[in-house]
Amino acid sequence: NIDPLNVCALHVAAGEGARILPFVAGLEDELFEHDGQITKREIRAMTLSALAPRHGQLLWDIGAGSGSIGIEWMLADPSLKTIAIEQSPERAARIARNASALGVPHLAVVEGAAPGALMGLPEPDAIFLGGGGSEAGVIDAAIAALKRGGRLVANAVTLEMEAVLLSEHAKRGGSLTRIEIARAGAIGSMSGWRPAMPVTQWRWTK
Ligand code: SAH
Repeated sequence: NIDPLNVCALHVAAGEGARILPFVAGLEDELFEHDGQITKREIRAMTLSALAPRHGQLLWDIGAGSGSIGIEWMLADPSLKTIAIEQSPERAARIARNASALGVPHLAVVEGAAPGALMGLPEPDAIFLGGGGSEAGVIDAAIAALKRGGRLVANAVTLEMEAVLLSEHAKRGGSLTRIEIARAGAIGSMSGWRPAMPVTQWRWTK
């Protein structure tokens, strides 16, 4: 097994030589195998900060995609645990590959759709909702399972999901943040800001 805190296995596998992983969340997107559905580096760093991992805690990463959030949660400290819930079999397999490659092979992957797939899982200290939140019953099931004092962080890119988060915020409180990131890119021989889609983030503590 690879030491998650010291070696980036993807680069070893690619023959590019070992790389030292930083201690703080926000790894480069390219370190994860993904199909475009990934929480971008800067947003991921802010999301991990909001999830606020503490010693020994368990995260549910619902709609885990590439698994990047749940993997970075576990990389923050060896005592941390993640259950990644993902409905797409292809992505669920990819999460397991990313977890192994980045040194946290003990990350648990549940292949299935929330809310059904959440039933019977151990109660989490924190929940990240990256997908499925606009489907009936997902937020209610997540909130019911969350431990008292636990944090829920939900990111919306679509208007439908944003509408859900605005209504949850109106109903339950918490805080809303809008995150807009632009990266510099080429425009012919010059460069300019290429904006990413804005993300609406709802944070709530039980
Ligand atoms: N945070 C992820 C990206 C999430 S993309 C990352 O950084 O990689 C949203 C994901 O939610 C998709 O993979 C989609 O398949 C999944 N999803 C959507 N609805 C779901 C549901 N009801 N249950 C489980 N997964 C769901």
